[in-house]
Amino acid sequence: MYPKSMLQLIEELKKLPGVGIKTAERYAFEIISRPKEEIEDFIIALDQVRKNLQYCQRCGNLSEQDLCDICLDNSRDQHLICVVQDPKDVIAMEKTQQFHGVYHVLHGVISTFKGVLPEDINVSSLIERVNEETSEVIIATNPTIEGETTALYIAKKLESKTQNVTRLASGLPMGGHLDYADEMTLIRAIEGRKKI
Ligand code: ZN
Repeated sequence: MYPKSMLQLIEELKKLPGVGIKTAERYAFEIISRPKEEIEDFIIALDQVRKNLQYCQRCGNLSEQDLCDICLDNSRDQHLICVVQDPKDVIAMEKTQQFHGVYHVLHGVISTFKGVLPEDINVSSLIERVNEETSEVIIATNPTIEGETTALYIAKKLESKTQNVTRLASGLPMGGHLDYADEMTLIRAIEGRKKI
């Protein structure tokens, strides 16, 4: 019923999280109603992301160079590492303006249920990265079963390297997601972190 190109656009939009057929159709109609220049800007933005965006070789955060801005920032404590699941959690932590260390992005969590093994996530580079100069490793995986399993796995692996592995504590609801937490909750969680 739709022309082929329109159908293709709807199919692509449908791949986005939370976008069902109805929303995809609505977005597609919205896009095609825009002036050609605006559509061009949209295409350019997508193209720039595709061409320029990569993951930081040290921490796994989003970056446009080999190392991300946070890893390159000498004013940040490079010996204090906060471990998060996804790049979007870095954004959530940064919004609190309470953390002045660096990050390590796992790109997932260990899940027996989904068959995600330690080697499937960015964890071995964390183990390699932590050394005697590391002052603290704060594990800020989401407060879910998978997040907890991953935190314990990392703590065990780091046992011989550092005594100071902590976990974000109170305030975060079990089963919740870091990037949904409001800033105050996240600040309290950072302040209330516990040794594991
Ligand atoms: Zn980095």
